[in-house]
Amino acid sequence: MTNANFWKNLRIGGITQAISELSEVQTEELTNRYGTHNYHPLPVSIVRTDGIYVYDSFGKEYVDCIGSYSAVAYGHLAPFIVNSLKEQLSLSALTSRAVYTPELALFLEGLSRFSGMDMACPMNSGAEAVETAIKLARKWGYTRKGIPEDHAEIIVADGNFHGRTTTIVGFSSEQSYRKNFGPFTPGFVTVPFGDINVLKSAINKNTAAVLMEPIQAEAGILIPADGFLSAVRSLCTEQNVLLIWDEIQTGFGRTGKTFAWQYEDAEPDMICLGKALGGGLIPIAATAGQRHVMEVFQPGDHGSTFGGNPLACVVGLAAMAEMEESELAERSRVHGEYFKSKLKELHHPSIAEVRGRGLLIGLEISPELDSTALTRAFLNAGLLTKETRHHTFRFAPPLTINRKSIDVIVERVRTALG
Ligand SMILES: *Cc1c(COP(=O)(O)O)cnc(C)c1O
Repeated sequence: MTNANFWKNLRIGGITQAISELSEVQTEELTNRYGTHNYHPLPVSIVRTDGIYVYDSFGKEYVDCIGSYSAVAYGHLAPFIVNSLKEQLSLSALTSRAVYTPELALFLEGLSRFSGMDMACPMNSGAEAVETAIKLARKWGYTRKGIPEDHAEIIVADGNFHGRTTTIVGFSSEQSYRKNFGPFTPGFVTVPFGDINVLKSAINKNTAAVLMEPIQAEAGILIPADGFLSAVRSLCTEQNVLLIWDEIQTGFGRTGKTFAWQYEDAEPDMICLGKALGGGLIPIAATAGQRHVMEVFQPGDHGSTFGGNPLACVVGLAAMAEMEESELAERSRVHGEYFKSKLKELHHPSIAEVRGRGLLIGLEISPELDSTALTRAFLNAGLLTKETRHHTFRFAPPLTINRKSIDVIVERVRTALG
């Protein structure tokens, strides 16, 4: 096809039409020919989504247990959020931060009410929210705590996942995320996840912040021992160090409370939000925090072309309203318990452990099992799930799931495990 025909076809025939004409084989071929190979997708092409289900071009149904890495908390194409987006499209979508918009104003108020924080800085992706928190923590360290310039340290946990920018992968402990991407940003100190004594000894007068996930999701759904979160909070308060929880994946009801830190007395100074904040529709992220930290930003310190755009703000507001009004966090807690108990009841010899909080569940399989083959078996059985690290499959379906669908999933797990 000539270039002219390619564009004409899309403009005249319509993009939806052109997309519907692509076969599964063509989809895979084009993606791999024209796209960088930084992902290894499952051998399936999804053409339609609805609630907790996704469908391939043959009409085969899968329960979405990846839940777009927890971003689709409300089910795919949740009507209230979709309608809010459609209504906004008749007014404005993208302006810029050079002007005020009522959408951003209301979004910021909503985010403050939802997160319990005083102020927020809107971004687009989770990694950007983490970068924002790093900048805020450093500037707070220099201008409020009196750390000598360029000496601020941020303590992170071994096994962390905070995104993929060069600064962030620089303090990852995963070799494959780092190799060949250095040199890296200095100023990060790594301690084991869940060990309060090592954390305590890592803090010094130049420590600006501790940045951690309250549950390490990508690392294999790792939950620290009871008391760790509140101990980190007390330690940070005592040592005048900021506590930053990365709740990009664990937030928004995923673990059975609005935020995973709420299982203990562990309110942070800053919280990174993303994924489900976008209502399962568009990328939205934010760093929210206490006023004494957030107010260190002055005009020119930070920014983003799309950050806080009216369309994103409306979707974010709709997502938070849906979360609150449908009580999705409580639903996640109740259904998560049920889901875990059902998986345990399978008593399958290939299951090493079932762990998790709310609907963030890890199914660890015995090490001798071939996880690639098992991923395919899950697919054949009608389940979309993928491994985190360490032989652990993620079960993080939309929080709108019900008991009956959980029974279906568990039955499909049994089939796949054989
Ligand atoms: C997904 C994730 C990120 C990065 O979010 P992106 O939107 O992919 O940049 C950061 N932290 C945690 C805990 C995550 O799960």
